[in-house]
Amino acid sequence: MEFCNTPSCQSAREVFDELEEYYDESNLYFRTIGSVLEAANLLDLPHQLKLILSQPKNEIMVHCPLRMDDGTWQLVKGYRVQHNNVLGPYKGGIRYHHEVKLDEVKTLALLMTMKCALCRLPYGGAKGALKIDPRSVSPAELERVTRRLTAALGNNIGPDYDIPAPDVGTNAQIMAWMADTYINFAESSNKVTARGVVTGKPLEFGGSAGREKATGQGLVYVLETLLPGMGRDIAEQSYSLIGFGNVGSWTARLLKEKGATLRAVLDHTGAIFCEQGIDADALGKHVRQHGGVAGFDQAQAIDEATFYSTPVDLFIPAALEQMVDLEHAQMMRCKVVVEAANAPTTPNAESYLLDKGIEVLPAILCNSGGVTVSYFEWKQNRQSETWDAALVDKRLKKVMQAAAERVLATSKKLNCNLRLASYAAALEHINKVYGMRGVFP
Ligand code: NAD
Repeated sequence: MEFCNTPSCQSAREVFDELEEYYDESNLYFRTIGSVLEAANLLDLPHQLKLILSQPKNEIMVHCPLRMDDGTWQLVKGYRVQHNNVLGPYKGGIRYHHEVKLDEVKTLALLMTMKCALCRLPYGGAKGALKIDPRSVSPAELERVTRRLTAALGNNIGPDYDIPAPDVGTNAQIMAWMADTYINFAESSNKVTARGVVTGKPLEFGGSAGREKATGQGLVYVLETLLPGMGRDIAEQSYSLIGFGNVGSWTARLLKEKGATLRAVLDHTGAIFCEQGIDADALGKHVRQHGGVAGFDQAQAIDEATFYSTPVDLFIPAALEQMVDLEHAQMMRCKVVVEAANAPTTPNAESYLLDKGIEVLPAILCNSGGVTVSYFEWKQNRQSETWDAALVDKRLKKVMQAAAERVLATSKKLNCNLRLASYAAALEHINKVYGMRGVFP
């Protein structure tokens, strides 16, 4: 990692040494902080800002007893990490995954701080998780553990303090149970606005039009803004996709409307390919019925190596973190990587791709449509308003275009890649607000 030589430049190693924090060079949180500090050094930001941002403000861990339908018990670990709230209430998803770890949640919380700042949303960053495989429990068990998690978090969440949303393994139903549990504990004078404790709720219960497709829609607006400058027409792009969940499936449906061709998809059940293009709506129906892309009869099954080496214009990872490693990058034959998932590309893979002249559009820009429409939902809940889908789309487009142009302008100004530019554009805003507010006391 390269840093400038002014005395105020500090690497993640130096900051962690100063804080006497243990670190491991291969750790995702440490590496992500390393990139954020690299951007902070490009801007020559103050030392105290680097110290503050290098650790989350709060790391909450809870243990939820879960009574299974057969009468046996399990103890389920939950996390909520609140990284920073200088811009406003903490905001970030809740993930249900059986392999989730604290450092992963910390990384995602840090990225939320950056994402909200980049998009100029009045939020800080947070992330939560429950260490459970949602596919392995019954709906009744899922409801019980969700309500217990919400109660355990108590006043550590709230519409003015910390607002969770759906992420991997969670959905609108889970948000409805969280909101209902929170409302039951709320003071009677706060019950109307209490539903704003979570976003991504069902439409009938305070959700927003356009929230379900928001992350995919935001990504399409980013592509429409940036591709022309790269000499690319969205209608002529072919692409591969990792993940066909919320983000992946909506991205595919919306790119179909734009005329782009989906060549290959990989998910947890397998990989598929079709030279003429895979129909996103037909695949969506298959995934709803069978739980994954494997067995889709309008495409051929391929192995993982063939998936990664399929020639395409755009490569869109929309599944989990760090799936595109150096080995995968060396196989990839694409022109642009569009990060729909959070932190999908390892630093080694990113360096390799950039050296090869492959552009990497960073996640905090590409997937910020989700939190932007979550902000719209929260705003509607506070004002007891209901916006129609056209208004949501219009406002989302404005935010996404502005964020994409901000990243491009910062990249030109600092002569750096788009990931560093996206962090720098976020940090500039955070630094200004710290300058105005000061650091308490
Ligand atoms: P999801 O649970 O709906 O879908 C996850 C997808 O990942 C599924 O298709 C699953 O098959 C696939 N997957 C899981 N393990 C895999 C593996 N080993 N190999 C290949 N595929 C695998 O989740 P989502 O909401 O679509 O989120 C996807 C990513 O986007 C995550 O990084 C999430 O943090 C990020 N994100 C989501 C939102 C949102 O609004 N949902 C917003 C911003 C960012």
